[in-house]
Amino acid sequence: MTTVPLKISSLKVQRLDIPLVQPIAMSFGTVSKQNIVLVRITDQDGAEGCGEAAILGGPYWGAESAEGVQAAIEKYIAPAILGVPLDGLEAASLLLGKTIRGNAAAKSAVEMAILDLLGRRLDASSALFLGGLCRTQIPVAWTLSTGNVETDIAEGERALLDRGHRRFKVKLAKTNIAQDVQRVASIVEAFRGRATVIADVNQGWDEVTALRYLPLLQEAGLEAIEQPLPSHDIEGIVRVRSRLNIEVIADEVLTDASTALLLSAKGAASAFALKPNRDGGLINTKRLAGIANAAGIKLYGGTALETSLGTAASAILYGSIPELQLGSELFGPLGLECDLASASLSVRNGVLDVPTGAGLGVTLDEDRIRELAERTNAVFK
Ligand SMILES: [Mg+2]
Repeated sequence: MTTVPLKISSLKVQRLDIPLVQPIAMSFGTVSKQNIVLVRITDQDGAEGCGEAAILGGPYWGAESAEGVQAAIEKYIAPAILGVPLDGLEAASLLLGKTIRGNAAAKSAVEMAILDLLGRRLDASSALFLGGLCRTQIPVAWTLSTGNVETDIAEGERALLDRGHRRFKVKLAKTNIAQDVQRVASIVEAFRGRATVIADVNQGWDEVTALRYLPLLQEAGLEAIEQPLPSHDIEGIVRVRSRLNIEVIADEVLTDASTALLLSAKGAASAFALKPNRDGGLINTKRLAGIANAAGIKLYGGTALETSLGTAASAILYGSIPELQLGSELFGPLGLECDLASASLSVRNGVLDVPTGAGLGVTLDEDRIRELAERTNAVFK
């Protein structure tokens, strides 16, 4: 028997560093570890819910660091939500939004824990609190980011054979652009008719570079280019789109529903990447997706390379969104050396089954979490 409304009686935060299976080379540098911030909350009846923020190697992709996320939650969010009656996820999201500005990953981690707890209190899937599922399986792309064409193609062949991925995501570096673009074109060619390729520049180019190289990638058959220009250069990407008929996915530039509205009004993207970690929580991402659906903008379910916990939350969210034309990149647990869950989410035949257990459907491996916490503290003391 659960008492309503939900009141959070305790909140605990842990920082856990997890090495990547292989380093990822991106436009701002190469990252080799994931910084996870795990949040656990309990309600007035003693039920527990968990959420996480995933910060890839520090405040380089986004503005937040794991240390900052922990401080924001402990010092500002916890005092504002402990003991406060919460009627549901919208109410929780509203309270988090009013409590602190920015700090998207911190708010997302706490909202995720609340979503998990809301489901567990009813012994039902948390999908119920996002409107229910429109699909039970999510297509998953695999990332090819070693920076070496032979290694990338060999890895793509293995991923296709072992797990059936039908879409690859290639990360582009900032240097040796001509060589990098040729690498992408070779990967597109190697998988033609078997898998499609999205290239992610992570804001690494300027307008001239985009206009010079995108026609080559378009000619090669690239499916989409993600965030080629810096997030502040909205006019630049509008001009690029007016000259080239190529699918442009907005990622870093998106922060919430209002930026989604601005981008759709300006014609600055033909697709949006979804990321609760970036948007300040799952409810905000769902709002942003609604604007895309209404504006005829495609959706791509993004990842911040979460463990199975955050991946389950994203899978449930993406499963609840009516249109998900470009599938997802929910391969997080496969890219990490170990997982927080006792049973990792996996990809078979190119898809991830949306978890159906109570809450987010994930059981944590407490021994492994203890080990990771000890190792993280030993390094950062
Ligand atoms: Mg991206």
